[in-house]
Amino acid sequence: MRMGVLDDVRKWLNDVPLWKELGTIPDRTKALEEKVAALEAMLNGKRPGDVCPFCGAQSFRLDRVDMHGDREVWKCTDTACGKSREIRHDLNAKNRRSGTALLGGNRR
Ligand SMILES: [Zn+2]
Repeated sequence: MRMGVLDDVRKWLNDVPLWKELGTIPDRTKALEEKVAALEAMLNGKRPGDVCPFCGAQSFRLDRVDMHGDREVWKCTDTACGKSREIRHDLNAKNRRSGTALLGGNRR
Protein backbone atom coordinates (compact mmCIF):
# COMPACT_ATOMS: atom_id res chain seq x y z
CA MET A 1 0.00 0.00 0.00
CA ARG A 2 2.81 2.44 0.87
CA MET A 3 4.64 1.52 -2.36
CA GLY A 4 1.46 2.36 -4.23
CA VAL A 5 1.46 5.86 -2.76
CA LEU A 6 5.18 6.34 -3.56
CA ASP A 7 4.64 5.17 -7.13
CA ASP A 8 1.82 7.67 -7.45
CA VAL A 9 4.10 10.44 -6.15
CA ARG A 10 6.87 9.40 -8.59
CA LYS A 11 4.43 9.39 -11.50
CA TRP A 12 3.11 12.78 -10.43
CA LEU A 13 6.64 14.22 -10.10
CA ASN A 14 7.57 12.94 -13.57
CA ASP A 15 4.72 15.01 -14.96
CA VAL A 16 6.19 18.19 -13.44
CA PRO A 17 8.50 19.78 -16.10
CA LEU A 18 10.92 21.23 -13.52
CA TRP A 19 11.43 17.81 -11.91
CA LYS A 20 12.51 16.33 -15.26
CA GLU A 21 14.80 19.31 -15.82
CA LEU A 22 16.45 18.80 -12.41
CA GLY A 23 17.46 15.29 -13.47
CA THR A 24 19.46 16.69 -16.43
CA ILE A 25 21.43 19.22 -14.35
CA PRO A 26 24.35 16.95 -13.26
CA ASP A 27 25.10 15.94 -16.89
CA ARG A 28 24.77 19.51 -18.14
CA THR A 29 26.99 20.84 -15.32
CA LYS A 30 29.66 18.23 -16.14
CA ALA A 31 29.55 19.23 -19.83
CA LEU A 32 29.94 22.92 -18.90
CA GLU A 33 32.85 22.16 -16.56
CA GLU A 34 34.61 20.31 -19.37
CA LYS A 35 34.06 23.22 -21.77
CA VAL A 36 35.40 25.76 -19.24
CA ALA A 37 38.46 23.58 -18.59
CA ALA A 38 39.10 23.32 -22.37
CA LEU A 39 38.81 27.12 -22.77
CA GLU A 40 41.15 27.72 -19.83
CA ALA A 41 43.67 25.33 -21.39
CA MET A 42 43.42 27.28 -24.70
CA LEU A 43 44.15 30.58 -22.94
CA ASN A 44 47.22 29.05 -21.32
CA GLY A 45 47.22 31.80 -18.67
CA LYS A 46 47.41 34.57 -21.30
CA ARG A 47 44.96 37.22 -22.36
CA PRO A 48 43.78 36.64 -25.96
CA GLY A 49 45.42 38.85 -28.60
CA ASP A 50 43.65 41.66 -30.43
CA VAL A 51 41.73 40.83 -33.58
CA CYS A 52 44.07 40.80 -36.60
CA PRO A 53 42.86 43.35 -39.18
CA PHE A 54 44.12 41.09 -42.00
CA CYS A 55 42.82 37.61 -41.16
CA GLY A 56 40.43 38.22 -38.23
CA ALA A 57 42.15 35.75 -35.87
CA GLN A 58 42.36 36.85 -32.26
CA SER A 59 46.15 36.71 -32.39
CA PHE A 60 47.37 40.25 -33.12
CA ARG A 61 50.05 41.10 -30.55
CA LEU A 62 52.52 43.85 -29.89
CA ASP A 63 55.85 42.59 -31.27
CA ARG A 64 58.14 45.51 -30.39
CA VAL A 65 58.22 49.17 -29.39
CA ASP A 66 61.07 51.56 -30.20
CA MET A 67 61.78 55.25 -30.91
CA HIS A 68 60.90 56.00 -27.29
CA GLY A 69 57.43 54.56 -27.77
CA ASP A 70 56.72 56.42 -31.05
CA ARG A 71 56.92 53.27 -33.17
CA GLU A 72 55.00 50.05 -32.48
CA VAL A 73 55.11 46.91 -34.56
CA TRP A 74 52.13 44.60 -34.18
CA LYS A 75 52.32 41.08 -35.53
CA CYS A 76 49.76 38.36 -36.17
CA THR A 77 50.89 35.14 -34.50
CA ASP A 78 48.52 33.05 -36.62
CA THR A 79 50.94 30.93 -38.68
CA ALA A 80 48.72 31.04 -41.78
CA CYS A 81 48.73 34.88 -41.69
CA GLY A 82 51.83 36.23 -39.93
CA LYS A 83 51.29 39.78 -41.21
CA SER A 84 52.58 42.76 -39.28
CA ARG A 85 51.69 46.42 -39.04
CA GLU A 86 53.83 49.38 -38.06
CA ILE A 87 52.15 52.17 -36.13
CA ARG A 88 53.95 55.52 -35.94
CA HIS A 89 52.63 57.74 -33.18
CA ASP A 90 55.10 60.52 -34.11
CA LEU A 91 53.76 60.73 -37.69
CA ASN A 92 50.16 60.76 -36.47
CA ALA A 93 51.00 63.65 -34.13
CA LYS A 94 52.65 65.57 -37.02
CA ASN A 95 49.63 64.99 -39.24
CA ARG A 96 47.35 66.30 -36.52
CA ARG A 97 49.57 69.35 -36.01
CA SER A 98 49.78 70.17 -39.76
CA GLY A 99 46.01 69.67 -40.07
CA THR A 100 45.46 72.05 -37.18
CA ALA A 101 47.93 74.53 -38.72
CA LEU A 102 46.00 74.55 -42.02
CA LEU A 103 42.69 75.02 -40.23
CA GLY A 104 44.28 77.57 -37.94
CA GLY A 105 45.49 79.55 -40.97
CA ASN A 106 41.93 79.87 -42.20
CA ARG A 107 40.54 80.77 -38.81
CA ARG A 108 43.03 83.42 -37.74
ZN1 LIG B 1 46.32 37.66 -39.08
